[in-house]
Amino acid sequence: DYTPPPYDGPSAAEIMRKRTEYLSPSMFYFYKKPLNIVDGKMQYLFDEDGRRYLDAFGGIATVGCGHCHPEVIEAIIKQTKRLQHSTVVYLNHAIADFAEALASKMPADLKVVFFTNSGTEANELALMIARLYTGCHDIISIRNSYHGNAAGTMGATAQCNWKFNVIQSGVHHALNPDQYRGVFGCDGEKYATDVQEIIDFGTSGKVAGFISEAIQGVGGIMELAPGYLPAVYRSIKNAGGLCIADEVQSGFARTGSHFWGFEAHGVVPDIVTMAKGIGNGIPLGAVVTTSEIAQVLTRRSYFNTFGGNPVCTAAGHAALKVLEKDKLQENALNVGSYLKDQLTGLQEKHEIIGDVRGRGLMLGVELVTDRQKKTPAKAEILHVMDELKDMGVLVGKGGHFGNVFRITPPLCFTKEDSDFLVGAMDIALSKL
Ligand code: PLP
Repeated sequence: DYTPPPYDGPSAAEIMRKRTEYLSPSMFYFYKKPLNIVDGKMQYLFDEDGRRYLDAFGGIATVGCGHCHPEVIEAIIKQTKRLQHSTVVYLNHAIADFAEALASKMPADLKVVFFTNSGTEANELALMIARLYTGCHDIISIRNSYHGNAAGTMGATAQCNWKFNVIQSGVHHALNPDQYRGVFGCDGEKYATDVQEIIDFGTSGKVAGFISEAIQGVGGIMELAPGYLPAVYRSIKNAGGLCIADEVQSGFARTGSHFWGFEAHGVVPDIVTMAKGIGNGIPLGAVVTTSEIAQVLTRRSYFNTFGGNPVCTAAGHAALKVLEKDKLQENALNVGSYLKDQLTGLQEKHEIIGDVRGRGLMLGVELVTDRQKKTPAKAEILHVMDELKDMGVLVGKGGHFGNVFRITPPLCFTKEDSDFLVGAMDIALSKL
């Protein structure tokens, strides 16, 4: 029942003209006619005409508590009025309080927090810590993963659409334990042998570390085959390396069954990186590790200007309290299972749905023109997205072939929202 205030800003066409002229040419848009989003309220977004959209993309798996959640906004305003910025040279309670709260969500030994401004920066720092701690350079990541777009993380990212091949030094890309198209099907331990072979044949036998998402997000919501991570973690530890869990997308209760995605795999990483959901849309990231590993940085002066900014950490702390108070992990589990069942039902009706996968409110629907050959339905997905938008539903898109719907809504998504999304998808797919 929320009515956004009237919008008196420039039109979508005028904004588009300015973006084309003044902003990066590498920008891309999902829709034929660009969408001008001017308001947000919980799981809804509103365009310049006040038209409401159910946001099933969640700002790319970022807005966990819901758009403009009142308690997060209140914390931001309160902190902004008092102090917007100081530096790490001085103490500030907002940073220390949030670090303590974050540590309480981690496995016992992981309790030292470094704040950053994004997921990329968190992963850059994690890779650096692994290299400093081990004295080794080789890092192993998984093909089809996404870890960021700066020099080091772009090396770890293994996606043709996101790579500029500028710097790839010291990163080996292991076989993706892909249960849909992968050569070993669902046998995680078989895929893990590739990591051991990389260690044996591609390195000195010692490595700095291994980085992986618990569920690949940008890569098209790909769940790692069961048994993969425990076997890989064993190989990496035997090779003296550190295991890095990239929880940028799968953290902060998104997967429903656990607060962190890695927990579903029964492993304990040495370093955990996070961003997106941590600040409910405010730029913030973090690296959490053990006190012992963190020592590698105390001997050097590592900090950055904005990382741990009091406004961002106050927002993060408020978002964490909302996740707990509103039981959003429980909701992600319940609504996520309900939605996944509904989508699986839709798969029985529509031949074009090749696969439905994911966990909690991190779900993927892969479209293929031929179920046997798994031929990616690249053009069709764009038609369906436009139809969905016209019906007031926004979803994301990704995967190696760009043919996977990414459904990562705010975690306050309801069963009614799921029905609306699935109903709209049914109509859109029927029109193909
Ligand atoms: N890691 C994962 C798993 C991501 O999905 C992303 C972004 O999509 C990143 C790292 C990079 O985060 P950021 O865009 O905040 O730099």
